[in-house]
Amino acid sequence: MAAKGKVPACIVCSRQLEGGLLEWPQFPFCSQRCKLVDLGRWFEESYTLPAGPRTAQEIAEEIEELEARRMELESGEEG
Ligand SMILES: [Zn+2]
Repeated sequence: MAAKGKVPACIVCSRQLEGGLLEWPQFPFCSQRCKLVDLGRWFEESYTLPAGPRTAQEIAEEIEELEARRMELESGEEG
């Protein structure tokens, strides 16, 4: 058995990304889904931290963008 230490893993679900980076266009995520999960976490953090004055309009626009990405994921899901 080869050493497993050299196989990178998805930073969201820890799935091992075997076979080379060319097979993982979403690297360091295993999939678009995990990429969005990470993005969602980032957004959640930015909401909980008082990042500065924000208008309701700006927040609404960000939520709309997240929703659009989520729908994109659902419609473009593979498998
Ligand atoms: Zn993953």
